[in-house]
Amino acid sequence: MSDKEEVNKPRKLQTPLGVFDILPDDQLYYTHIKKVVRHRCRQSGFRRITTPIFEFTDVFQRSIGDGTDIVQKEMYTFLDRNERSLTLKPEGTAGVVRAYLEHGMKELPQPVELYYIEPHFRYDRPQKGRYRQFWQFGYEIIGESDPALDAQIVHLSCKILDDLGITALFKLQVNSIGCQICREKFLVELQNYYIGKERSMCSNCLERLHKNPLRILDCKEEDCQILAKFAPKLKMYLCEECKEYHQKFLEYLTEVGLKYTENEQLVRGLDYYTKTVFEFWDHQQGAQNSIGGGGRYDGLVELMGGQPTPAVGVAFGIERIIQNMKREKIKIPSKDNLHIFVAQLGDEAKKKCLNLIWELRERGVRTVGALGKASMKAQLKLADRFNVPYTLILGITEVREGTIIIRDMARGQQRIVPFETIIDEVIRLIGEKNLDLYSPAEILYE
Ligand code: AMP
Repeated sequence: MSDKEEVNKPRKLQTPLGVFDILPDDQLYYTHIKKVVRHRCRQSGFRRITTPIFEFTDVFQRSIGDGTDIVQKEMYTFLDRNERSLTLKPEGTAGVVRAYLEHGMKELPQPVELYYIEPHFRYDRPQKGRYRQFWQFGYEIIGESDPALDAQIVHLSCKILDDLGITALFKLQVNSIGCQICREKFLVELQNYYIGKERSMCSNCLERLHKNPLRILDCKEEDCQILAKFAPKLKMYLCEECKEYHQKFLEYLTEVGLKYTENEQLVRGLDYYTKTVFEFWDHQQGAQNSIGGGGRYDGLVELMGGQPTPAVGVAFGIERIIQNMKREKIKIPSKDNLHIFVAQLGDEAKKKCLNLIWELRERGVRTVGALGKASMKAQLKLADRFNVPYTLILGITEVREGTIIIRDMARGQQRIVPFETIIDEVIRLIGEKNLDLYSPAEILYE
């Protein structure tokens, strides 16, 4: 369905095109990915930052650059009630740098290392792996320049993809797009090369030719790709410092055992990159299905009103990671699986269950209870649907005799045990099945 069709359709209450609900089954993936990112970032000394969902439009316009697709076509921009222009964040770095400046983080020991896990918004053409609200995680090192830091950002990314079980699906592509000075000379040559070839260029590239010529190099249109192959190579225009920087970066990647492909056409979509750029490409689909990428952006802090401050960072798309994890049939260790269903009959039994359920939960047993008025048969059916290994059954007789029934759902066997021993017995049985109890530490150390 196109956007126009959507606008003209009678209103039905459903999500707009390109956005989606994250249902419980998919939450498992999101939570798992967040945990892996959090663990790896903390292990490396990064601290978490959350910037607002919307910012003044200037924050993105100034940083991402007027000539980019994001600013030209993809931002969700609106006026608030005071006629101020605001924009839903289309990417993470601009907000992080704005926060770095606004909160005087320059006074902290440098470099400042920050990570984020957040939703972003782009008016993109929705298709598989491309949405209008999507989640990204990313991390930035602000305040120091060294090729070893660039290599460290890549290394951390590989560790995360490794933990998620999908490193083997992606190829690391690297390039250097030089500093402002060497790029200036190159851009003139690049524009000269394209002049006279306009008829073979797509309409987007014709626009880019004057606004953002570097981007022509990573256009996905077939004709543009052929032209790009024979275009002047940035490598030839790199100044000595940029050349040496890139060489060191590659050496450090090799030192930590990372394989890479040098890709002279890799430029990244955003204006603020300098020197190192890299992306993780799908082995089969290449750039069409890049899972994440980043690079050095030494000019950005100054562009946003600060002192010249070097920085490097990366962002990954969580939905694309999930797609790949599903494709690889990677199982998520789930903490949502229930251990116990408590069924009861009669008012006295229900009263006893109210406490029993919470005592079980406090001991780490994930417990649900049927506290409504359903028959025992209906409750046991429900227990089956919850897929619990054990059900506890408390009826009038058991209350009178001070006992409780425990039913092994897989075997269909049940036995009677003294009520006061039931919690220890449940914990013993869960241990026998090698199931994890829920640990309160998981809440304390979020
Ligand atoms: P970018 O900020 O454009 O460098 O994107 C970094 C990563 O975010 C990409 O490699 C994708 O994995 C993901 N991404 C970017 N745009 C979208 C989108 N519209 N929908 C889903 N994922 C996206």
